[in-house]
Amino acid sequence: MAMIFVTHDLGVVVEVSRKLAVMYAGRMVESGSVHDIVRNPRHPYTEGLLHSTVHEVEKGQRLTPIRGSPPNLAALPPGCSFSPRCRYAATGCNVICPRPVTLETHGAYEHVTRCHYPDRGGSATAMSS
Ligand code: SF4
Repeated sequence: MAMIFVTHDLGVVVEVSRKLAVMYAGRMVESGSVHDIVRNPRHPYTEGLLHSTVHEVEKGQRLTPIRGSPPNLAALPPGCSFSPRCRYAATGCNVICPRPVTLETHGAYEHVTRCHYPDRGGSATAMSS
């Protein structure tokens, strides 16, 4: 038996899941084992969600929200849908939609992201239209 648990709170996901898929604007932007993604998020939206959770945060400490608003799903921006909100956006991000790239595999779980710059400042993954 499997269960799909939908939430914006990654702190809750850690408690109930082994595999995680992060969706943004109707696309899966990162997936893999909960352990790999929480320890080493490779998509900026995932990173933003992890900074927005109240889990393991001291009382009174301010959270870091993701700037901007989600896009209109009927009129998605060109290229990466997250680019208007992404602090790492760079060459090609607002032109070419990132394809899923497998970064590593641990057991049954592939760590996959849809980001041209999963290393943030490293070289871009292969871009193709
Ligand atoms: S492809 Fe570019 S804009 Fe999109 S998440 Fe990655 S770095 Fe940010």
